[in-house]
Amino acid sequence: MNKWFETLILSIFPRRCACCGKTIDSSRMMCVDCEKELPRIDGVICRKCARGKDECMCKGSGNYYDSVAAPFYYEGCIRHGVHIFKFRNGFRNYEAYSLEMSETVKERLGNINFDFITEVPMTRKSRKKRGYNQCFYLAKGISEHLGIEHKADVLSKIYNTKIQHEIKYYLRKGNLTGVFDVTNPSDVEGKTILLCDDILTSGETLNECAKMLWLYGAKEIHCITLAVTKRKMKTNKE
Ligand SMILES: [Zn+2]
Ligand SMILES: [Zn+2]
Repeated sequence: MNKWFETLILSIFPRRCACCGKTIDSSRMMCVDCEKELPRIDGVICRKCARGKDECMCKGSGNYYDSVAAPFYYEGCIRHGVHIFKFRNGFRNYEAYSLEMSETVKERLGNINFDFITEVPMTRKSRKKRGYNQCFYLAKGISEHLGIEHKADVLSKIYNTKIQHEIKYYLRKGNLTGVFDVTNPSDVEGKTILLCDDILTSGETLNECAKMLWLYGAKEIHCITLAVTKRKMKTNKE
């Protein structure tokens, strides 16, 4: 997004709740009602799929990333807020969401020294169409909150694929093979990387991105996402 346009939006428009879009006081990030019903993930949490014990879907399967964490389940007010964030030019929601994600990183990955944070990429075509990559903004926000360097565009998405949750489960793995690439291999060799995405569903997107980082010699790859889907949850076309 154009920097000038971004600054204009941030300075002129009143602050809105990051979940429901209601106008709120500029000192807040979310309205009182949404804050009360945030679908937080707590209790015993699986490090491989970021879900609570009852919702764990990874069944101990191997991934190229070392761990993944998320503050929320993808439901209720978060689901609504993500829709605004991604499809209704609500990129400003990144401020509230990255703050929550930063707290989760501190809490669950706080003992790790990250060399940098980067985001799951979009193709140029998709980014142009939306005007921004929402994951870029989440990574930028976390970088600002935690003082971890943000390296944008470390990964690139070469072409568009069918949306993961719209195709049959057994076809999902192959759907993403060869879609992502590392832009500059020297950026990742020997590095401990925090990889940022918005929603975790099957984990295939993160796994494919992590695979490329691993192939180019990344030392450790941990992931942070805003939300994870619950077991057997049906998602909209997002
Ligand atoms: Zn609200
Ligand atoms: Zn799990």
